[in-house]
Amino acid sequence: MKRTLLPFFAACLLLLNFACSATDASSDEGDYPSAFARQLEATRVRVDGVIAEGIRVPLPKDMAGGPTHEIHKRNWSTLRDAGALYRLTGEEKYAVFLKDALLAYADVYRGWPAHPTARSYATGKIFWQCLNDANWLVYVSEGYGDIYDWLEPADRERIDNELFRPMADFLSLENPQFFNRIHNHSTWGNAAVGMIGLVMGDDALVQRSLYGIPSAELPDDLRDDDSGRIKDKEGRAGFLAQLDLSFSPDGYFTEGPYYLRYALSPFLLYGKALAEKRPDLNILTYRDDILKKAVFSLLNQADPTGDFFPLNDSHKGMSLYAPEVVKTVDYAYYYFGKDPALLSLAEQQGAFTLDEAGVAVSRDVAAGKAAPYTPQSMTFADGPEGTEGGVGVLRAYGADKAQTALVMKYSAQGMGHGHFDKLAYSLYNETGEVIQDYGSARWVNIDQKGGGRYLKENDTWAKQTIAHNTLVIDQTSHYEGKISIAEELHPDLYAFNADNSGADAGAKSRLLSAKVDNAYPDRELHRSQILFTAPAFAQPVLIDVFRSVGTKEVLHDLPTWYHGQLLSTDFDYTTKSELRPLGSAHGYQHLWLEASGRPTGNSAEIGWFNKKTFYTQTMATRPGDEFLMVRPGANDPEYNLRRDPAFVLRRAGAATTTFASVLETHGSYSPRTEVPNEPYGHVRKLAILADTPEYTAITFGHENGTKWLVLLANENSDAAATHQFTINGSPYEWTGVHYLLQTSK
Ligand SMILES: [Zn+2]
Repeated sequence: MKRTLLPFFAACLLLLNFACSATDASSDEGDYPSAFARQLEATRVRVDGVIAEGIRVPLPKDMAGGPTHEIHKRNWSTLRDAGALYRLTGEEKYAVFLKDALLAYADVYRGWPAHPTARSYATGKIFWQCLNDANWLVYVSEGYGDIYDWLEPADRERIDNELFRPMADFLSLENPQFFNRIHNHSTWGNAAVGMIGLVMGDDALVQRSLYGIPSAELPDDLRDDDSGRIKDKEGRAGFLAQLDLSFSPDGYFTEGPYYLRYALSPFLLYGKALAEKRPDLNILTYRDDILKKAVFSLLNQADPTGDFFPLNDSHKGMSLYAPEVVKTVDYAYYYFGKDPALLSLAEQQGAFTLDEAGVAVSRDVAAGKAAPYTPQSMTFADGPEGTEGGVGVLRAYGADKAQTALVMKYSAQGMGHGHFDKLAYSLYNETGEVIQDYGSARWVNIDQKGGGRYLKENDTWAKQTIAHNTLVIDQTSHYEGKISIAEELHPDLYAFNADNSGADAGAKSRLLSAKVDNAYPDRELHRSQILFTAPAFAQPVLIDVFRSVGTKEVLHDLPTWYHGQLLSTDFDYTTKSELRPLGSAHGYQHLWLEASGRPTGNSAEIGWFNKKTFYTQTMATRPGDEFLMVRPGANDPEYNLRRDPAFVLRRAGAATTTFASVLETHGSYSPRTEVPNEPYGHVRKLAILADTPEYTAITFGHENGTKWLVLLANENSDAAATHQFTINGSPYEWTGVHYLLQTSK
């Protein structure tokens, strides 16, 4: 039987042949660009290895990490790759292998009981949870599509009816609590059922995948794993509902980039299949280009090293360069505008999707079309309507074009994976994390730590407010640490200005400012952060102004979670000879108090060193302020928590108060030459000059004599509003929320 190519792809290959003969980018592997051909060859070697060994289809019994789990997991990529090899090389042995493997699954699948582990709200058959069965079906559907027309009708019928139709029904009709949610699990389920439906030409399955199981056919009290009711008021479910409800209009995913990266796979793979076979749905432009926005939102939530910002329950180190993100970059390029900056990401990934998108990307990389990837400052609104706060990213470039990136989080809670971290920030540069977000307390796939699942310290520590760089009032987490309260409320963006206005004399400043008036009773928190670049500083400087407004005197704790080792302070402190936990709840029970001290003047300075770079934070202080040097580890007998350091600025007995600080990145040190360069910071004389409900004024200087004044409008976020404010007899006038003015030298 002759293999058939989709007409579109055939045209693509013809064009490619022409392009390759012109640019001589071809290699032994047919007429593909050489980088693509190398990957095809590596795939061939891997699949040939499995063909030589023979496919194994063991009776499922193990949890994630166990042998049967890992074998079936490896099978899904082998079967997908075998299909791709047949499609791209035309060699029939790959189609034969794939057919035989699917027949082997068809022999046993219907006879398998539910997975014996019974540990999930939706137990699978091949794996311990339906989610992994859906992963399997998404990828194997791709391979099956590649050989479908080649198969003899009798084999096709057997595989359709004894493997794939029962599997699609199992993942949907038999597990509606898995299939009919608005959740990334269900997106996988919807995509799996729809992709196999498209391959088999089964319109009923495609319909079920797009719109869910009709609500009328479900029991009223059906619940998901968070006890959420599956039949909601509107009764929407299915792939289109996921597209409508999973993302904000900006493409932000409420659980954060770590989960977005995972959730995007089924959106992109099923989206691509629907674009080919159901052009009437216009899926690639659905909801004002929501898939494009989601893809670019993911690509823009990474630090200068490419690691995703570890917001909410994130596993640190997941990156733009992870294998799973290859299709995000390739499809972003191929389907959404051919942005040449994406080619430089693809180049660094060094891998391509084994399809027309990957061919196009590798061809354009080889043709030298890549442009530098230079992400810019931006904000993402959260919530399905874009009305539930969001996340803001400021990026500034210093000496040697080194990037500094700041993230402030003023988003909605982010469902069960959310953290109580309103107005928390984290800071990154080319070395990675500078001021860190803890991420999740979980060792993904590391069996020794709770089998790789979330650890109990994820709730008792990682989600708590004190684990974040934001204000804690009365040693209590935001929303009392209760998700039921947090889910109903959120902060709001106050101002975002990244066009470098609001500054003078060669300086540039980018502002991000947000407010929350419901994290604590009768209290408004307002944080304004500025990334400031000026010739006097080699790298961008972070200016942080945090106002807390209330009527009752409370205890304020403002932690700074730095990386590295403390070098010096300009105040005395005493270290403890005996360690005690800092508190008894809301994460404080996990903190050892290592040292404490009180600053004497109106400001305090703490310097530290990390990855060959020096940092100095200067903070405005008041009489009575105290610094606490802390570290997780208390009530952690299994060493589940990282022992990273922080200092907490503690202020007692204030009803309304303002914190201001300047963080400077400076100098370098080489252990090879043993020569420190610029080990001391340059910021001097930080002070809060004025602080009223309407305006806040901060001043700081450089040791060379230059001084700056930062003016902030606290109650009018109109960018066109003009403000007048007199400080110590000097009148100032400016337009917009912030103004950064050089006042001397
Ligand atoms: Zn967090």
